[in-house]
Amino acid sequence: MKILLASSEVHPYSKTGGLADMAGALAKFLAKAGNEIGVVTPLYQGIRERVPELKQFDWKLRLPLGWNWVEGAVWKLEPSSGLTVYFIDQPQFFQRPGLYGEKGIDYPDNAERFIFFSKSVVNLARYLDWSPEIVHVHDWQAGLVPLFMRHQKTRQGWGHAPRSCLTIHNLAYQGHFPRAYYDLANLPWDYFHPGGVEFHGGLNCLKAGIAYADSITTVSMRYAREITTEAFGCGLDGILRHRQDVLVGILNGVDDEEWTTVSNPYLRNSYDLDALSGKTKEKLALQAELGLPAAEKVPLFGTITRLVAQKGVDIELAALEEMLAADMQFVLLGSGEPSLESAFRHLAQRYGGKVAVRIGYDQGLSHRIEAGCDFYVMPSRYEPCGLNQMYSLRYGTIPIVRATGGLDDSVVDPGENPDLANGIKFIEPSARALAKAIRKALVLYQDTQLLQHFRRNGMRSNFSWERTAAEYLRVYTQTLSR
Ligand code: ADP
Repeated sequence: MKILLASSEVHPYSKTGGLADMAGALAKFLAKAGNEIGVVTPLYQGIRERVPELKQFDWKLRLPLGWNWVEGAVWKLEPSSGLTVYFIDQPQFFQRPGLYGEKGIDYPDNAERFIFFSKSVVNLARYLDWSPEIVHVHDWQAGLVPLFMRHQKTRQGWGHAPRSCLTIHNLAYQGHFPRAYYDLANLPWDYFHPGGVEFHGGLNCLKAGIAYADSITTVSMRYAREITTEAFGCGLDGILRHRQDVLVGILNGVDDEEWTTVSNPYLRNSYDLDALSGKTKEKLALQAELGLPAAEKVPLFGTITRLVAQKGVDIELAALEEMLAADMQFVLLGSGEPSLESAFRHLAQRYGGKVAVRIGYDQGLSHRIEAGCDFYVMPSRYEPCGLNQMYSLRYGTIPIVRATGGLDDSVVDPGENPDLANGIKFIEPSARALAKAIRKALVLYQDTQLLQHFRRNGMRSNFSWERTAAEYLRVYTQTLSR
């Protein structure tokens, strides 16, 4: 099949979160399975320097954006057979220190930036010589693509236009802008109504995708159900219920080539299920790296996250206040809202020797935390898929999660199935419930055999991307037959 993916971030070129991991892995594994894959993504600052193999593509963009015409170039990379990445080069929009903003504040021209990006995707989809059959867009930044395609197909003579698929990675981020921004789309007002792109009088880019894509997916089965309810629907549950017949949940996979405990360049030791001593060495090395006392027998808990309300880190702070009297250690790697960053820094100051906090983004350290910890804490208020709980399972680190979205789909609590248990779940989004789950973890830690049972189940879990990619191919096939 010939598929063009569009994502505002793609690992290993750009990343702020799970979207990048997913888009990068999906492209790679679809190509590996013998499909012809293109990926369109912005050329952000620093990519050309980091990827010298990039080549200028013979392609000129000149696209209307409201009253202006905006020009751009395209760069191309072929990282593996069957896979081509097209980077949209528009220096005024994309040569900036951040992807979406700086210091927690969005860039004021994100509508211009990503509507231009979406139009560039459509331009490539229409004129690339290999004529993609499916255009698969991700999140609000590419949400207008299905509508642009439909418009060009029905009113601007695009015969054999590809079918479209939208994946929602996080319904809370919608690209919602005041009504005047609809001008940037250069579309007639026919689409601006509550069944189309309009949301509370403004333009909603994600809603456009939901209304006009031929298929919709999201990143776990449970989240697919949750987002059709008022509690999780972020105002879009109505239109999602309306499109429920084309909505499916597909759990993300884990890229085993990147997230591996054997010969991982970010780790100092290799280990696997039959030789766990390397994991203990990773724990001691992590304690040393973060300035915590080396203590093999003290349970070490960790979290790697964007510091935002969604992730329940305020709940975690309160639960830690309650639990840190116990014999335990805690490490956090994250960045985000300044008040949460300082709250964690403050916690580390008050519990020196027990708590280590690193504010920032550090890919290598994230692998070492996954490997070195005994338990991984993820108390998200909602979680479309979540990746770190799956990385934890693969690394033999037991996840403690709130039973929501993909966390619920990927972790098994002993209360659900003692034989297959690989983690600890709690339900209520409260510090009390999390503290209780941490207490359970402390008890589990004392029972070597049971701990081993949980670890074994986790390390054996199969989150293969081959399987996930095959599920997407099934959706594409259905989409083509619609
Ligand atoms: P989200 O996309 O909502 O942030 P996910 O769990 O789906 O959450 O994906 C988060 C990804 O970003 C994971 O790969 C995680 O390891 C990574 N990540 C988040 N914060 C950091 C950080 N400070 N340093 C390194 N990696 C991080």
